[in-house]
Amino acid sequence: MSPGLLLVTGGSRGIGAAICRQAAAAGYAVAVNYARDAAAAAALVAEIEASGGRAAAFAADIGDAATIPGLFEAAEARLGPLAGLVNNAGITGGFSRVAELDPAVAARVLAVNVTGTMIAAREAVRRLSTARGGAGGAIVNVSSRAGQLGSPGEWVHYAASKGAVDTFTLGLAREVAAEGIRVNAVAPGLIESDLHAEAGDPGRPARLAPQIPMGRAGTVDEVAAAVLFLLSPAASYVTGAVLEVGGGR
Ligand code: NAP
Repeated sequence: MSPGLLLVTGGSRGIGAAICRQAAAAGYAVAVNYARDAAAAAALVAEIEASGGRAAAFAADIGDAATIPGLFEAAEARLGPLAGLVNNAGITGGFSRVAELDPAVAARVLAVNVTGTMIAAREAVRRLSTARGGAGGAIVNVSSRAGQLGSPGEWVHYAASKGAVDTFTLGLAREVAAEGIRVNAVAPGLIESDLHAEAGDPGRPARLAPQIPMGRAGTVDEVAAAVLFLLSPAASYVTGAVLEVGGGR
């Protein structure tokens, strides 16, 4: 039996796409949310369907909170009742020392990474909570090791947004623990994805790899495996956890 619908924000590329692939292989019907790159989302859906899975793509800017309820409604109308949410959509806003920080960049990073995560979680809680007639479920937030390391000289604004994700994970986990909903986070370290090139530094993973105790950047599949564990019944007594996936850093 399928575990049901999993909505993955920012699911079309990178870590999100790896989560969608592994979730579909585990039997979930997968709602692949994306913001701009419709072709990447469509290609991922076609790939999942060709492997015998169920998926559909849904455009919505997670930084625009007003569009989030409609995303959940469209996903459920197409793929059935929600069983889980992965809040993966996230942006760095690019490199900037705090002394040069543009308020528009800071606001956009907080809108996507923090407010978007909170409002998507709200929509999931409204559907999953046993106190509201739901069947329970799981939420996994994609944080970052930056939230605890602070990222000085690179993107303190981004690190601070992930610190907020960690605190939100803990508080929401405790708030809904008796309502059948587990809420956890993964905190990836340095991971090979397009994120670094988008910030203007495609060589960043290779350059920083020697600083990682394991001596290498991680892969998107290594992060996705941790997310799938936290979603699964194997993690039935795990809530409020932030699981580091950082190669020791
Ligand atoms: P990525 O390769 O840049 O992919 C970002 C994904 O998010 C794309 O599917 C993109 O879709 C989507 N997205 C971006 N802005 C969005 C928005 N406003 N609304 C909806 N979707 C949006 O990034 P990634 O490296 O996989 O990062 C995924 C998550 O992991 C983020 O939360 C990031 O902070 C976190 N993380 C990454 C690393 C790392 O080293 N890569 C480390 C720690 C944490 P479009 O193409 O349509 O824009």
